[in-house]
Amino acid sequence: MKKILIGIVAFILFCAIPFSVAALVVAPRWAMVEVLNVWSVTSNKKMTYSGTTKYSSQVTTAVGKWNGHISGVISKKSSGAGNVVISDVSVIGGNTAGRTTFKSGTGRKNSTVVFATTVMDSATAIQRAVAVTHEFGHTLGLAESTMGTLCVMHPNAAQTTSNNNLCNADRANYTYMYNNKY
Ligand SMILES: [Zn+2]
Repeated sequence: MKKILIGIVAFILFCAIPFSVAALVVAPRWAMVEVLNVWSVTSNKKMTYSGTTKYSSQVTTAVGKWNGHISGVISKKSSGAGNVVISDVSVIGGNTAGRTTFKSGTGRKNSTVVFATTVMDSATAIQRAVAVTHEFGHTLGLAESTMGTLCVMHPNAAQTTSNNNLCNADRANYTYMYNNKY
């Protein structure tokens, strides 16, 4: 059973929203590439999403953040399943707000994103937006970042409740994926 599960689900990323106050993490001066070996962008450098979530306004915000750095990559698919399918669940586990799961394998693979309503509903609007932006970052092939909580891809990014902007490392990692992987 375990092997079957591993075969089906290649890559699951859990992203928590911790509500405790975090110590300030100063981003290192030199960024490194922090990317996954799997992504949901097609070979023509486009990625569609579909599905239903009560956080659709945050999805719009998140798409705007990423498309604001590299325009025209992410778009909503009007009918049928997109490269990314979004849905809501009640609980993922603990204070985990979102989860991105890629189809088995590496390289170009479709993915699903789920949001935990119990966590998201008790979060602030900014925290919800950070969580959605973070999960979209995973679908683009970005890994958890160590470059500080001001980076959307930091696993504890939502601790910084006043910020939902891409940091330099977020942008650099996305540019790297766009230029080298898609
Ligand atoms: Zn994550």
